[in-house]
Amino acid sequence: MRRIVVLLVGCLLLAATALPGATAKVATGKDVRGPGAAQYDVQLAADATGRTWSGRERIAFTNTTGEPLAEIYLRLWGNAWDGCASPVKVSRFEGGTPGTPTVNCTAVKVTLDQVLAPGKHSAIGFDLVMTAPARLERFGRAGAYSFFGNALPVLAVRDQAGWHLEPDLGIGESYYTLAADFAVRLEHPAALQVPATGVTSAIRRGGTVTATSTAKQVRDFAFAVGVFQQSVLTSPGGVKIRTWWTGTVTPAAVADARTKAMAAIDDLGRRFGKYPYGEVDLVLNDKWLSFSGMEYPGFVLLIAPPGQEGPVVHELAHQWWYGIVGNNEYADPWLDESFAVYSTDLHGGDSQPGCWPGRLDARITNDMAFWKRYGANWGRYVYTYGACLLHDLQRYIGTPAMAKLMKDYATSHWYGVSTPGDFKSAAEAATPKDLAPFWSSHQLS
Ligand SMILES: [Zn+2]
Repeated sequence: MRRIVVLLVGCLLLAATALPGATAKVATGKDVRGPGAAQYDVQLAADATGRTWSGRERIAFTNTTGEPLAEIYLRLWGNAWDGCASPVKVSRFEGGTPGTPTVNCTAVKVTLDQVLAPGKHSAIGFDLVMTAPARLERFGRAGAYSFFGNALPVLAVRDQAGWHLEPDLGIGESYYTLAADFAVRLEHPAALQVPATGVTSAIRRGGTVTATSTAKQVRDFAFAVGVFQQSVLTSPGGVKIRTWWTGTVTPAAVADARTKAMAAIDDLGRRFGKYPYGEVDLVLNDKWLSFSGMEYPGFVLLIAPPGQEGPVVHELAHQWWYGIVGNNEYADPWLDESFAVYSTDLHGGDSQPGCWPGRLDARITNDMAFWKRYGANWGRYVYTYGACLLHDLQRYIGTPAMAKLMKDYATSHWYGVSTPGDFKSAAEAATPKDLAPFWSSHQLS
């Protein structure tokens, strides 16, 4: 996410080796994470306004945790702001029995009908109703437009530390998901457009459109609803850039975002590995409450401020750092935000000379609980100093080694999950230099 500088809190301040194409695998040792290889099948129908969607969600998964699995957890992140008033409601479970929601009604334990042995498959299903709350948020509304970011229930992750049920702290992101396949059928009035994660095919019957979006190896699924204006361009590298904008966005802002996206999606692909999803949706609005841009797989929410630098490159960089190369955003927020800022700088030819300020009063590797306590300047560390660290590393090991490091690091964690230790190991493999003094001077040892 790109945070709105000064005014707002949130993403860019307004401011196990797997190769591309590989699917989730059963991990061993300390890197065990699960449930994995998930397949989400969702069928939802909209009301006349597109604000409320109801239907059924089914999640098939494999026990990749290496241990017998008696339960799984669903994350209902859409309830984070409203708690148990629950704009996201689940009911009528099959395959397991739900417990009472916890963590401000953002987590639901589902005891499986049968304990699942390692490597075995199972599935749960449930009825789902989601109503976009009346606020200018990722899961919310802007006039007649509705946005469903972090609204669709997703599986929580269990790893060597146990189940991850961290809360949404109201700043940044606390999300942690494994790559999965989604097939989402959205039935809606034909007068509404529905940009969504994945590649969409639609059939119109009378006044109703049934759109099916499929996305492979993504960590989430987001969509928006409304009478958007839209355009489609294809980058020289073959990525479709679908731009959608609300009625208050100016043509100049649309053109600016589209032009930047066309250049960035190919350039970032050359640096880190080709963008694998074929298309990306840019959804522009002129105002958001707590962010200037928000990243989802193949789908980004953007502000379009007239005459100002928008967050489009930053959010597209998140397609690699958070999306393709995953991380626990609660434990290691710098692993996606610093990398998105650094990538934006690379794309813009900005090497940020002399940016490292010396010893800091907080380690950039702190988790979101720390930053919530730290206060309003947290983004300076997680975004700015973290990116600075990467620029400093580039100066330390040299540009060719750094370029190889970033590409090798992305490739070796493609559709997987990275940790700070993984990045340090990748850096040490990329240079003959002793990095111990560097890590020490940047409080990463
Ligand atoms: Zn960001």
